[in-house]
Amino acid sequence: MYKNIPIQPLGTRLIRANGFTADILRLDLIHPVVSGNKWFKLKYHLTEAAQSGKTKLLSFGGAHSNHLVAMAHMAAEAGLRAVAVVRGEEPQLYSPALRQVQAAGARLVFVSREAYGNKKTLMHQMQSEYPDHYIIPEGGQSELGVLGAGEILHGVPTHYSHILCAVGTGTMLAGLAGAALPHQQVIGIAALKIADPLNNTLQTFTASHTPSGRWQILYDYHFGGYARKDPELIRFMNNLYRTESIPTDFVYTGKLLYAVHEMAQNRYFVPGSDLLIIHSGGLQGNRSLPPGTLDF
Ligand SMILES: *Cc1c(COP(=O)(O)O)cnc(C)c1O
Repeated sequence: MYKNIPIQPLGTRLIRANGFTADILRLDLIHPVVSGNKWFKLKYHLTEAAQSGKTKLLSFGGAHSNHLVAMAHMAAEAGLRAVAVVRGEEPQLYSPALRQVQAAGARLVFVSREAYGNKKTLMHQMQSEYPDHYIIPEGGQSELGVLGAGEILHGVPTHYSHILCAVGTGTMLAGLAGAALPHQQVIGIAALKIADPLNNTLQTFTASHTPSGRWQILYDYHFGGYARKDPELIRFMNNLYRTESIPTDFVYTGKLLYAVHEMAQNRYFVPGSDLLIIHSGGLQGNRSLPPGTLDF
């Protein structure tokens, strides 16, 4: 479906000075709402739902979930009904993401943080309350999600030496690692704060979903944790937009690009390296920032 995803060269002085090249795969441009990796991660879930004869979808996420926005829109486009199970009590004022989920026609079901945290019980409860719904794991994190994410690289030139992406659940990273060629190294930048870089669920999920050993996760670019930010990140994002016309989101891709810049500064990439940076979308998440924060 998405055969010609734009690939944009990154021209910053820092990169040129260090003797390597970097291109950005602009998945943020594939769809006005379902941008980025979510379309790929959800694709096979929708196929599977259709094959099992289900006409309704159900999935889980937080109040700012790009995944729920994508699911609600893809369901609507496919003529399916959808239930979005949201972590936390119903807020008085809906977040931009929740408004988008609602506008797409999905039904919102709010679950207390405590009940949401008990994943097994929550799953059983939803299965019994919505037996005719096809249930998609949070973040599309499953074998089918990984399978779809691997297709991000379909049709992309194979000369790149490094593929870099942001990491939430690790589903995209696992897909890319599985699809990468022997001469390619896949580097994931964690968007969350992880206490133990050697032993954590991102590491075990990725390892168990790809036989490839050509990947690693870097944990130093979370800016305080998931969806946290500081003035330096915002400054960097505005500057990147001004100089390269690349809009990024503060939860994932801003941190990814910041990481690439800092790694370049630290001479992480040897001269001759040929980077492909995955712009995984998520720009609608910036709507939760106070107006005027970003220049784009
Ligand atoms: C969801 C999301 C991610 C994280 O993808 P995972 O497969 O969960 O690791 C990265 N970037 C953006 C923009 C996202 O919306």
